[in-house]
Amino acid sequence: MPKILLVEDDPILGRSLALNLKLEGYEVEWAETLQSGFSAFKQNKFDLILLDLGLPDGHGFNLCQEIRSKDKSLPIVILTAQADESSVVEGLNLGASDYVRKPFGLKELAARVRCALRESKSSELPLRFSDLKIFIDQRRAFFGEHELELKRREFDILTYLTDRAEQVVTREALLSKIDQDGEISDRTIDSHVSHLRSHLKGSGISSIHIASIYGVGYRLEKTR
Ligand code: CA
Repeated sequence: MPKILLVEDDPILGRSLALNLKLEGYEVEWAETLQSGFSAFKQNKFDLILLDLGLPDGHGFNLCQEIRSKDKSLPIVILTAQADESSVVEGLNLGASDYVRKPFGLKELAARVRCALRESKSSELPLRFSDLKIFIDQRRAFFGEHELELKRREFDILTYLTDRAEQVVTREALLSKIDQDGEISDRTIDSHVSHLRSHLKGSGISSIHIASIYGVGYRLEKTR
């Protein structure tokens, strides 16, 4: 049974999270302060940490840093207040594996927890852009907790664009990367890209998209 350390000072949220995670089959230890989070982490072994940032006796980042200095791979999922973009970025920089914005649904949280636990078992760090995560060796791509079912070329194109996110990728560069056998023409690459686009759209992804740069190529970017 995977063991989760939940650090959350809000008594109502903490209780309902602890209860729901237990119902999902996890063992849960609930710490209501930063200090008790520190001592729980010192005393026990956990498979995942769910970490609120605003705690009465300090900032959750302190614990995040402490955990990362001791354990490079233990998944840490941050629970953060809405519209707190800078905390999310800082948290990811400090080594958090993922974040969930408050208020969140319990189902979403459970899915994120499952996903973070699964990732921690594979040692491969994903290529990331926004909520997109690509595990190149496993050839699997996720948006949030949703796995994208991509065809071979679509996967290759998405990987290449993600690796160069927010940069213009020329059609030639893309072609030479994904078509080592020389089977694809300029026109078919456009059609692969357009399939990939409709796939992303069909999966409900609107926060990122593949922009066409006229006469040059493509750019994977955040939707502004
Ligand atoms: Ca709090």
